Amino acid sequence: MKRILLFLALALAFTAANAQQQSPQMVQFLKEFPQRAAFNTHSYEFIDVADTPAPRGYRAFYISHYGRHGSRSDWAGNYTYKLVRDILAQAKADGVALTPAGDSLLRESAYIFEKYDGMDGRLTPRGVREHRQLASRMYHRFPEVFKHGSKQIRAVSSTTPRCIVSMNGFTAQLLALQPDLDMDLDTGEKFYAYIAQSENGTIRARTQKALAERPSRPVDASSVYKTLFQDPEQGKKYVKNEGSFLYGIYAVAKVAEAFDIEDNLFRYLPFDAVYNFHEQQFLSAYLNECNSELNGDIRLPLNKPLVDTLIAQADRVVNGSSDRAADLIFGHDWPFLGLCSFLGLEGVGDRLATEDAAARWMASWNCPFAANLQIIFYRSRKEEDPVLVKFLVNERETAIPALEPVQGPYYKWEDAKAYWATRVPHTQIVAHRGHWKDNAQNSIASLTKAQEFGCWGSEFDLHLTADDVVVVNHDAIIGKTKIQTSPLKEVKAHSLKNGEKVSTLDEYLKQGAKNKDCVLVLELKPHANAQREDILIDKCLEALKANKLMDPKRIAFISFSYHICKELAKKCPGYAVQYLEGDKSPAQVHADGINGIDYHYSYFKKHPEWVKKAQALGMTVNVWTVDKEEDIRLMRDLGVDQITTNDPALTREILFGRK
Ligand code: MG
Repeated sequence: MKRILLFLALALAFTAANAQQQSPQMVQFLKEFPQRAAFNTHSYEFIDVADTPAPRGYRAFYISHYGRHGSRSDWAGNYTYKLVRDILAQAKADGVALTPAGDSLLRESAYIFEKYDGMDGRLTPRGVREHRQLASRMYHRFPEVFKHGSKQIRAVSSTTPRCIVSMNGFTAQLLALQPDLDMDLDTGEKFYAYIAQSENGTIRARTQKALAERPSRPVDASSVYKTLFQDPEQGKKYVKNEGSFLYGIYAVAKVAEAFDIEDNLFRYLPFDAVYNFHEQQFLSAYLNECNSELNGDIRLPLNKPLVDTLIAQADRVVNGSSDRAADLIFGHDWPFLGLCSFLGLEGVGDRLATEDAAARWMASWNCPFAANLQIIFYRSRKEEDPVLVKFLVNERETAIPALEPVQGPYYKWEDAKAYWATRVPHTQIVAHRGHWKDNAQNSIASLTKAQEFGCWGSEFDLHLTADDVVVVNHDAIIGKTKIQTSPLKEVKAHSLKNGEKVSTLDEYLKQGAKNKDCVLVLELKPHANAQREDILIDKCLEALKANKLMDPKRIAFISFSYHICKELAKKCPGYAVQYLEGDKSPAQVHADGINGIDYHYSYFKKHPEWVKKAQALGMTVNVWTVDKEEDIRLMRDLGVDQITTNDPALTREILFGRK
């Protein structure tokens, strides 16, 4: 269903969005081979590849591979292949003559709909052939890995049938070439943790907003009717929704190769329409999955589990504790794009502003069906020489521009790992009282902005009113009203700087619940006595439960009250509870059962060792309120887990090493 909505949205965007002039580079790229307009449903282009000779004395011994499934049917054929077929067939049946082109499109859409057979995302025979051919090319290109090395190969697939069938095609071909390979195949939900980490909701929302804000580039669709119908005016009457019809034709054309139709079916559409559809599709993927300026900082971390897995698998072989010849993973386009972006590979992984990406990110070149990354490992005859690697993106030798190669496309494995260790900062950003610049602290608007900005967390302050309602505000007094000794009605009479009324916790959590990616950091303020603090805790937990937010991944607690911290630690095992005062060592706090500290940065300047000591005890370390560049750098270098800041944008620039 998600996919259906996506392409209907794209169909609408056809008339509403898009920007600026067409990029000459992209026009040339598409005209060179029109099927590239299919972007990620373009079938794999098998091109001649050559290998830069490895440094003297080096020989390949291991391959780490991530492969996207091969050519498949598209989604929601009823809304695309069938829609096009039915419109043309009905017109024809009613005596509205089709042109020869119209007849062709009718045949092709009917053929694809029949082959599709109601199975969304089904691997086609071409998809299997792609994987067999890729396996064969890998085998013949690096025979030393398979013939002379170990015979052990481990292949793991996403649980999606098209990936499993791709894995089977690939591994069956290797076995056909080398029957004594010891092939181990597996699939299962647990592998999703690294095989297929998708973009999150925050990223999707940011992408949609960015795309919607691009100015429109209109298309004259009248030529479509002339192309398909002898009488265009008559033909047009059969089309209820022009955007959907044009998208339907685009969908038929973009998936035709998967069904072994080699013809360019994009010719039924005006080039401007093809250009727009293609741009919408690939730009959305680039912004969602790659290291874009818009979203890269939030996107890259999602691929860390996959990168860590590849490193761990390879290191076992490099260190001699495993003698596997290859690790093969079969998955999808989004983790493939995220992986190449994380690794910093030229082309796919380029960090681009949105309009630069629209102009020059070579979409179908980067991510066709059966897109693949092969990391080839080389060992020298001399034991003391370092292990080298080279990267093949879709079988082409690909550089990591940020790294110095030893020679040609060959890099030291240790250099590559050291570089990847810097790609995602350890430290996360917590917006202090929300992302409130140009807004109001502790307002729902500032929480919303923190969510939209992709902050790891957003902090807010909580007091209990005299009539036992939890409200969100920093100061204990608002106007002349003392919150903790006044009823809600009097507190509610006050407004924040942006005009919002002071929120109850329940109201605030309604917005918090809308975004699963931003942790809600509740600061429970100290109250007159332990009894009031206990009520505050219970009321907070009630509100969290009522809003279905009791999940340690979504909630963290902080407080200056040691009593509150101790009680929360008891009542909420598994949740992060961080003590704020800074007057106790990590060991003392830990001994009292509290699993975190969140101290003013001056304490960590005095006791820098507290960060590692706390972490060694399994505690999390947060620090407040860090707004100056030098302090942010210092806290980052100490390795704190979170920085709480009034300036999330500056903090992000520093954490990612851009400032
Ligand atoms: Mg606070």
